[in-house]
Order: sequence, then C-alpha cells, then structure tokens
Amino acid sequence: MKIVVVGGGIIGCATAYALARAGCAVTLLERATPGAEASGAAAGMLTLLGESGQSPFENLAIASWRLYPKVAEELREQTGIDVEHVTRGTIYPLFTAEDVLHAEARAARHPAKDFGIEAWDAGQVRDREPALASRVRGAMFVRGEHWVNNQRLVVAYAQAAVAAGVVLRAGLSVSRVVVEDGRARGVVADGERVDGDVVLLAVEAQPGQLVASFRARLPVEPRRGQMLALTHVPPILRHCVHAESVYLVPRPSGELLVGATVERVGFQGAVTAKAIAGLLRAAIELVPALGDLPISRTWYGFRPWAPDSLPVLGPWPGVEGLWVATAHFRSGILLAPITARLMTSWITAGKPGMDVRDFLPDRFVRG
Ligand SMILES: Cc1cc2nc3c(=O)[nH]c(=O)nc-3n(C[C@H](O)[C@H](O)[C@H](O)COP(=O)(O)OP(=O)(O)OC[C@H]3O[C@@H](n4cnc5c(N)ncnc54)[C@H](O)[C@@H]3O)c2cc1C
Repeated sequence: MKIVVVGGGIIGCATAYALARAGCAVTLLERATPGAEASGAAAGMLTLLGESGQSPFENLAIASWRLYPKVAEELREQTGIDVEHVTRGTIYPLFTAEDVLHAEARAARHPAKDFGIEAWDAGQVRDREPALASRVRGAMFVRGEHWVNNQRLVVAYAQAAVAAGVVLRAGLSVSRVVVEDGRARGVVADGERVDGDVVLLAVEAQPGQLVASFRARLPVEPRRGQMLALTHVPPILRHCVHAESVYLVPRPSGELLVGATVERVGFQGAVTAKAIAGLLRAAIELVPALGDLPISRTWYGFRPWAPDSLPVLGPWPGVEGLWVATAHFRSGILLAPITARLMTSWITAGKPGMDVRDFLPDRFVRG
C-alpha cells in the first residue's frame, strides 16, 4: 500500500514509522523540518493524573503511557538517540491540610496501581525535594508520571522512519488533496503531484483547508503555549513539579523547562513579556532558588485543539482513502505511540483495535 503522510510533527513521524514497519511504502511530506511546530515546542511530560481508564480518551492515554519504555528503547536501538525518558515521577504541591487529606483519599482509591500515586506530608516533601518553598504543606506524588525530551523524540522517530524505508521530503508544502471519483489519489505539494493509495493528514490546524473543494472544515484551531528554559546546572530539582499555574521539568541535558500558557490568539507567533513574567513569578514562588538561574531561551508553539478537546482520528467522511490524525491538544507527545499504532492497524487492517468512537472526524465533518 502506497501512503502519503502530510505533516512531520510527532504524530506524522511516529505514524509514518509504524506504517513503514507494517510493510507500507510511505512518503512523508513536511513543509519545514520534522518537529518544527508544536512537537518541538512541547515540554515532553507524559501526564496521566486524572486518567483512571474510564473513558476512551483515558484508555488511549494509559495505553500510550505503557508503550513508552519500549518506544524509548526501540528508538535508541534504531537511531542511537537517547530520548531522555526520565522516570523519577511528578510532584503536585499542596498548600493546605485539607488538600493533603484529599490527596490521601485519592491515592487510596486510584485503580491503576502502576501509576504509584502517594500522598506526602510536609516532612516527606522537604526530604525529597528540599528546594520547594516552605509554604508547600504536602504533595501528591505520581511515581508513574514520566517525561521525555520531545525535540529528541521527534528527530528519533523521523530517523527511525527513514531507516525503515520512509521517503521523507522536508521543505514541501501541501496545498491540496487530489480526489478523483470520491477517492484520495495523492496530494499536490509546491505544484508537484505526489501519488498514493492513501493520504493521511497529520497537520496541526485546519486540515479541512486541504480538502477545501469539499467545503469540509474541521474546526481544529491553534492554542498558543509559551514557555521558557532556565540553565539548570547544577540541578536544583530532581522531580517534575506540576502546580496549578506553572510546571517545571528538569531535563538531564541541563535545562529546567518552565511552562506553559494556553492562549486563544490564532496563529500569532510571539513570546510576550506578560506571559514570561507570569510563568517566572509562579515558578519562583514555588522554588525560590530558581530566581538566580540564567534564562537560556523562550519560545511558543501552537497546540492543535478541537472544540471537545479530544483528538480527531480516523477516515475522512465521504472520501475513500483519506485519513486524519490531529487535535492532540495538550497530550500529543504522550499520545504519539498509541496514535501511530492504532492508525496503522486501522489503515492497513481496517481495525483500530481500540474504542475510537469519541475521536471520529464525522463528529465535525459530514460526508
Ligand atoms: C508549549 C507546549 C507545551 C506542550 N507540552 C506537552 C507535554 O508536556 N506533553 C504532551 O503530551 N504534549 C504537549 N504539548 C502538545 C503537543 O506538542 C502536541 O499535541 C503535538 O506536538 C501535536 O503534534 P502534531 O504532529 O499533531 O502537530 P505538529 O507538531 O504541529 O506537526 C504538524 C506538522 O505539519 C506540518 N504542516 C502543516 N501544514 C502543512 C502542509 N500544508 N504541508 C506540509 N506540512 C505541513 C507542520 O510544519 C508541522 O511540522 C505541548 C504543546 C505546546 C505548544
């Protein structure tokens, strides 16, 4: 089967890799470079708290999280790239005695014991992460919440895809999907036709514009996220720390990521003083010693968001051979391995292997 994948973010690269390993002839078209957009801008957290396996989305998230150790190992074997899969766990700081009681109750009843949820009192917090501010009265600790270096991950997936036979064509912008007799036959990219039996749209926002001739508009919109990194040498934090208005992600490569805003500003590409000031204020309140660290970089990215905040996965209504995988919003890094697996099984064998009813594009697009 000849497949054209449009979009070299984490979703496009991971899925192209899985499709090639399943025996498909895959061409991956990316208008810039792999990971140039949201996938390179993310923090790389594999966040699960609240996911208790009770909805199709939660099942998807947990299934993907379970694939990660193997994915990290496999990508290292295939490419030599260490994706910095850190498994030390995430601290959710708590500020009142009542919050600590709630955390204890929640830890006791969480069904997925392999997440390793624990409630910590102030003394345990002080022992394990001494740099946290003294006003932190306790914490919910989730041993199973891990993180990766998403920039490395997307490069590793792209390189593994090429090694598996994918033809990666970077710097080519797709303007439309070619549809003949109700079937996708390929795409037009910078005036050149690229043929395929199947077209998979893994672009971040408005994939509907690529099939404009059908007046189909998928209401996927950007949600801007701004972040910054501090030079974290020698390190102050060992764990990921996730509070309400800021999260902190210590990377083995010597950066501490501080994120992130969620803003509805269209594709306005800018880092703003207000956002960076707000993130820094919240970070220093939580960990006062961070105030002395150098800022190494700031950036923004656009998360693909659908109105119900769920991914859009599956066949495009009314056009045979056209598929979409987008709108992973805040969880695209977490969800990449399972998205790649289920899209590959769905496209090649007709079965996604999971309950995907909540994710179908026809909840927005009519055939
Ligand atoms: C600040 C921030 C923090 C985040 N933190 C996390 C996190 O901690 N954990 C997590 O799981 N998720 C996180 N996310 C979300 C995650 O980054 C996204 O859900 C994910 O990257 C989406 O991947 P994608 O491949 O769909 O999109 P993208 O990475 O945007 O890839 C789409 C690609 O398509 C290409 N493209 C677009 N149009 C065309 C065209 N016409 N022709 C050819 N190519 C085209 C683009 O250049 C782009 O490379 C974060 C996002 C942001 C912005």
